[in-house]
Amino acid sequence: MIFVLPVQCFALDVNNIRVGHHSDKTRIVIDVDREADFRAFVLENPNRVVVDMPNFAWQAPAQITQEAKSVVAAVRHGDVSSETSRIVFDVKQETEIISAFALPAAAGKSDRIVIDVRPVGTGQSASSQAYGAYDAADVAPAVQAAPAAVPAKKASPPRKKIVVVDPGHGGQDPGATSGRTYEKHIVLALGKALKSELERTGKYTVYMTRDSDRFIKLHDRVKFARSKDADLFVSIHADSIPKSSVRGASIYTLSEKASDAQTAKLAARENKADLISGIDLTHEDKDVAGILLDLVQRDTMNQSNFFAEKLVASFKRDGIRILDNPHRSAGFAVLKAPDIPSILIEAGFVSNRHDAKLLTQSSYQKKVAKTIAQGVDAYLSQIDKN
Ligand code: ZN
Repeated sequence: MIFVLPVQCFALDVNNIRVGHHSDKTRIVIDVDREADFRAFVLENPNRVVVDMPNFAWQAPAQITQEAKSVVAAVRHGDVSSETSRIVFDVKQETEIISAFALPAAAGKSDRIVIDVRPVGTGQSASSQAYGAYDAADVAPAVQAAPAAVPAKKASPPRKKIVVVDPGHGGQDPGATSGRTYEKHIVLALGKALKSELERTGKYTVYMTRDSDRFIKLHDRVKFARSKDADLFVSIHADSIPKSSVRGASIYTLSEKASDAQTAKLAARENKADLISGIDLTHEDKDVAGILLDLVQRDTMNQSNFFAEKLVASFKRDGIRILDNPHRSAGFAVLKAPDIPSILIEAGFVSNRHDAKLLTQSSYQKKVAKTIAQGVDAYLSQIDKN
């Protein structure tokens, strides 16, 4: 009697993909069920890290840590021939492999293939060779070099980008006030208008941290955005200062050092929101404070700055009044999501008669919302292209 076992029985299993971010590299670990040859190399346009292996069965959930998402955008896999399967890591920028090696099963861990990568230009230039001994003889070189992506087994439609809109203050915290003009009402209306502008494009899923007059802690606004896996966080406010002639919008990003004394004061005012309900922030703020110097946060801060510039351009183009030096920065607590580009918009001053009047008009709210939506769109489209 002859038993013919289907080939699949012998197929290598890829059981897990882990991507971890370190200060000097991103480490990709591929858990396999036995020793396996591999070949790792990079491709450009778009930038990818590619790993070829003997045909494998994909058992991995392919979860990328939130942290590593700043480097690896997505993981795909597919067969490139009857003998060779491929894993493709879509990386967000031109990347080089620093080292790649196999680790044998040990100490309860399965066989692993480890690939360390970093963005090009962040270390001594690594050679652009392929790593690993796997000879994918049956894969034509043209296939390996082709910029076209490997047809993934299950190509899921691209996910809509997620934007979290955060109207400041609410409930017992009115924010800035002037007579009967309350910041909390203005920014809620602006937030709702922004949501509908963004949704009208059909490109974005929008969540609001609040869509009614209720109080939310700053920390919980950040937590909410992270729970939604947001691509962008937009906090909307309106300011008030003693000098009533000052008017115009301004845009803020997170920085360790305030860009100017005025902004430092503004951040202190906005960060006080939580104190209104008597919440002690000292312990809650620690976890974000520790992350501040993290490289991921650095990258996020760069993204936020880039987004802020797009917004400033959008405001200027639409002729919406903005302050001189409209992009400023300080330690705003609500902008501290380590992995989500975040900005805070002060739409104007309730302490200024003209601004206060405009900000409470639904036509002006809609106009500002449209301008912000255009900035969001300009930023996210660019990110997509990169
Ligand atoms: Zn505010």
